[in-house]
Amino acid sequence: MPQPRFARFAIALPLYRVFEYALPEGDPAIPGTRYRVPFTNGIRTAVLLDASADSEFDRTRIKPIQACLDSQPVLDAHMLSLARWMSDYYLQPLGDVVFQCLPGYLRGARQYSSTQVKCWTLTTTDTAAIDKLRRRSPRQYEICQALLERQAGLTAAELMKINPNWHPVVKSLENKQLLRWQWMDRRPDLPDAPEVPQLSPEQSVILDDLEPRLGNFSVHLLDGITGSGKTEIYLRLIQTRLDAGKQVIYLVPEIGLTNQLIQRVEQRFGARFEISHSGLTETRRFHAWDRFRRGEASIMLGTRSSLFSQCDDLGLIIIDEEHDHSYRQEDGIRYHARDVAIKRAQMLDIPIVLGSATPSLESIRNCGRDTYYRYLIDRRPTRFPPPRLELIDVRNSRFEFGCSARTFARIEQHLAASGQVLIYLNRRGFAPIVMCHECGWQALCQHCDARLTLHQSVHSLLCHHCGYSQGVPENCPECGHDEVKHYGIGTEQLEQGLAQRYPEVPIVRIDRDVIASREALKSRLQQLQSGAPCILIGTQMIAKGHDYPAITLSVILDADQALFSASYRASERLVQTLFQVSGRAGRGDRRGEAILQTRFTEHPMMQALLRQNYREIADGLLRERRSFGFPPFARVIMFRADAVELKAALQKLEDVRALLANAKRFDALICVGPIPALMTRRIGRYRAQLCLISQDYRVLRSVLKQAMPAIEELPGSARVSWSIDVDAYDL
Ligand code: ADP
Ligand code: ZN
Ligand code: ZN
Repeated sequence: MPQPRFARFAIALPLYRVFEYALPEGDPAIPGTRYRVPFTNGIRTAVLLDASADSEFDRTRIKPIQACLDSQPVLDAHMLSLARWMSDYYLQPLGDVVFQCLPGYLRGARQYSSTQVKCWTLTTTDTAAIDKLRRRSPRQYEICQALLERQAGLTAAELMKINPNWHPVVKSLENKQLLRWQWMDRRPDLPDAPEVPQLSPEQSVILDDLEPRLGNFSVHLLDGITGSGKTEIYLRLIQTRLDAGKQVIYLVPEIGLTNQLIQRVEQRFGARFEISHSGLTETRRFHAWDRFRRGEASIMLGTRSSLFSQCDDLGLIIIDEEHDHSYRQEDGIRYHARDVAIKRAQMLDIPIVLGSATPSLESIRNCGRDTYYRYLIDRRPTRFPPPRLELIDVRNSRFEFGCSARTFARIEQHLAASGQVLIYLNRRGFAPIVMCHECGWQALCQHCDARLTLHQSVHSLLCHHCGYSQGVPENCPECGHDEVKHYGIGTEQLEQGLAQRYPEVPIVRIDRDVIASREALKSRLQQLQSGAPCILIGTQMIAKGHDYPAITLSVILDADQALFSASYRASERLVQTLFQVSGRAGRGDRRGEAILQTRFTEHPMMQALLRQNYREIADGLLRERRSFGFPPFARVIMFRADAVELKAALQKLEDVRALLANAKRFDALICVGPIPALMTRRIGRYRAQLCLISQDYRVLRSVLKQAMPAIEELPGSARVSWSIDVDAYDL
């Protein structure tokens, strides 16, 4: 085979092209390896994609690479194919996508040295030599015995557990040449006999159906109410896969709130799993990535980007709470981790299990397809059924910090019965509206088309979009009137009000303002674990798959705004949140209740909620989407642009539209825009959008395929930035 002399590289740049460099003689040119290459005025890290003996460019103008960074590729062939697929499907620059697939630690010029551990092992299996130690050197004997039991060797930390003063003992044994140390991959043993609950009949039936299908690509949707035992099913499936020598990726929306999950996985699988989420340092995440890659850890439990963990023998992907919005990355590379995971499973011919109490409409719809299976679970394995939801009609009610008198009565009833109460209010701060009664002035952000929220604890008006903050004016800045008022309720005000009303009840508030760190969150959650009566107030943060066993009442204060939202997704999200929040109650050994304050008790959505049937609501929403021709019955591709002036952003999208309009069959698409985005100004920039919709995905694809080369060539400018969003979440 002729020597590879030229190679194409991916560089982390938002440019739709790859870059060619010359390789030194003898370079093995393995795809997925990182190099340092000269680029404009500096040096960049680049990932080798492919190499050839010749180049179609002017060979004299191709620069040589500067250095090779890795002795082995950091991305395997499968991950490179996945990156190519993502780049193609999501219309994102390949360079950006390739770097997205790497752990942050390896995106720069850091060397990839693996994280093997130092392990001591016996040099002999001659038990007679060891027995000799028994009397004269009991401490040495003790360590040798432990090593006889554990052939894989012991790390310093493990030796420490046997003997805190292990070092001199091990030294003597080394001198006697009974022990030696080496760098080793360690695959920890499974715990001896973890406590495994007896499966409920529902769980057994599902596992019996599912397990024979694990051999090949197949998508399994566990559609089961909160607390129906889905996690237990995942754990069983993981066990089956581990027994077959496979590895498993287990994605969850959020880890900070899932300490219990970590405990459950640890209790079942000991040290055989790694955790990765954005709360960890780059180095820790890299170690997790590396241990999983080398097969030392069998399970990768993590959030969205853990999907890009590599290993030799992936045998299952699990996506818990598959409907959760956090699986979609909305900045940088836009992709949906669930959809990429399904593609990955298909490429590897392995199964993928999605689970949710409120599956996305996309997944429900997909269940009609080949190789998709849906399993319904409508009962909890524990004693109590899920809580019934009750609507509280607040049309003529008087409110005190957002709660009606009936709501208070319920809260008091549950507290008196030693229950914990959860109050969901998805609005942080003290009050969302600050205005002057005299002239109608409102506190607005200078940089966004948004109101400022009053945060009383820090005496400021804050913008939740750009972080802008200013002091609270004493007089109206417009007319000078001496009273500026605030309206609406945020979690801060709710907490204050409840603390005054129930001074003896502990109140735990969970939102982004009070939870600065995972540690802070952990300590707050510990208060709940104790099981003593308390009130938990929280935003969206608390709705994510979490088990608060002592909560007996869930209260949803304000759901009405979402009923009339401009977003076609709003009702799906609202229903999912309501089911998730109400499902938090009564998971322990007491029956739970859920109440919802609304002015629209007759609204069809509220009525359907009362019947407690997510599937009925989802089917209704799907019918609605079908009749409007919205996703999942159509595909949406959104072009977005932003600039310091609205005109420039709109102009950019006009240019894009003109190129699209040249393509054959453009007329078969629905094209909306360019128009200003719903929130036109954000963080000081004006935003515009251009939306393509089609029921026929092939037409959409074909138009884009024709137009993309020209769109990619559109002259860039520092003033306007733009992006493409395939399968845009909202319009
Ligand atoms: P989900 O993931 O559907 O919310 P979990 O698997 O977390 O449900 O189960 C809910 C609760 O029921 C947990 O406390 C769990 O320990 C318990 N549980 C699950 N399966 C069983 C079972 N087969 N027997 C007894 N308890 C179970
Ligand atoms: Zn005024
Ligand atoms: Zn702002």
